[in-house]
Amino acid sequence: MTKPRNPRTIAARKGIAVDTSFGAVAPPIHLSTTYVFPEFERAGTHDYSRTSNPTRSLLAETLAELEGGEGAVVTSSGMAAVDLATSQLRAFDLLVAPHDCYGGTHRLLSARRDMKHFDVMFVDQGNPEHMEEAFSASPTMIFIETPSNPLMRVVDIRAIAERARRAGAKIAVDNTFLSPALQRPLALGVDYVIHSTTKYLNGHSDVVGGAVVCAKKSEADIFAAWANIVGTTGSAFDAYLTLRGIRTLFPRIAQQQQSALAIARHLAKSASVERVHYPGLPSHPGHTIAKAQQSGFGAMLSFELAGGGEAARRFVETVRIFTLAESLGGVESLVAHPATMTHAGMDADARQAAGITDGLLRLSVGLEAEEDLIEDLEAALAASRPARPLRKKRA
Ligand SMILES: *Cc1c(COP(=O)(O)O)cnc(C)c1O
Repeated sequence: MTKPRNPRTIAARKGIAVDTSFGAVAPPIHLSTTYVFPEFERAGTHDYSRTSNPTRSLLAETLAELEGGEGAVVTSSGMAAVDLATSQLRAFDLLVAPHDCYGGTHRLLSARRDMKHFDVMFVDQGNPEHMEEAFSASPTMIFIETPSNPLMRVVDIRAIAERARRAGAKIAVDNTFLSPALQRPLALGVDYVIHSTTKYLNGHSDVVGGAVVCAKKSEADIFAAWANIVGTTGSAFDAYLTLRGIRTLFPRIAQQQQSALAIARHLAKSASVERVHYPGLPSHPGHTIAKAQQSGFGAMLSFELAGGGEAARRFVETVRIFTLAESLGGVESLVAHPATMTHAGMDADARQAAGITDGLLRLSVGLEAEEDLIEDLEAALAASRPARPLRKKRA
């Protein structure tokens, strides 16, 4: 039998109907921590579940095929995946990361730098001069996150990867915001893809997990060995749930991004909204690159309310369908206020410099009916306006 190549088919079918014990169609979950040695001095395929586990291996193979890589390591969280991807860096190696990367990634890389495990330079990767400056410092690895959180900035993966290859640097892309359904960075020339599977891949807001997918099998083996050494591999139960989530990845994200585009257009027309950040809008500065390197614009967007922080408060106090919560990528729509939630750790000046204003709200668009979502936003936008009109009506 030839291997199915279309990622949609991989998502729906990987591991289906291959059980040899009972002919189970859905791949069984294997919770056993330990496995029989078939004979003295000889381990079977699996010996101990921290090292390898049939359920986790199936998820890893699925992720590797979805991303077009030769191997993957499934970790206990997205942060563990970021840590694993950077685990082979040594003292004085330089990692170049985006200044607006995920907050947890910024905290982890800063901590590694402070402990002198390796050097880190945070740069605006959308600025060619900053990138040239970074390359002149001879980096060992470039870490990319596109689209970025929460302003949805887009950088050109292929261009950075080509430049990095000439400089002899490894390239890692955090692909959490789009998933392999909408962006496949390995095909654009990168070495590693990182995921927080907590988000779109699992998609049901009930698993924290991560993965590193590698272009080369030999590198996946090195990461697998390290994940075993430090014990950051994911649990079998989480792997089982994540694979179950992946079955519907493509239809979920297709529906979600359709609603996200409708919502972005709607918000862009509202007088209460100052600015909308969604790469699917032609006015977005990353629209052209996004169109070229992504196969969809995704279901994450953010927007700035004209009325600032007070308007944001009134908005989130009015929404009935959008839930005020962090995280993203689930079937349920969420709204987050970055200034007081995901980016509260940044001081006000740093937030301002990063463009995270008090009136900024981020949406993760779920699977509810589009009309219901828009109606909910309409009511919240109306409530976000101050009780007195901003401008005095002419007599
Ligand atoms: C959530 C997230 C992470 C961290 O993943 P966890 O599963 O929460 O540890 C990393 N990168 C991005 C882009 C994320 O959204």
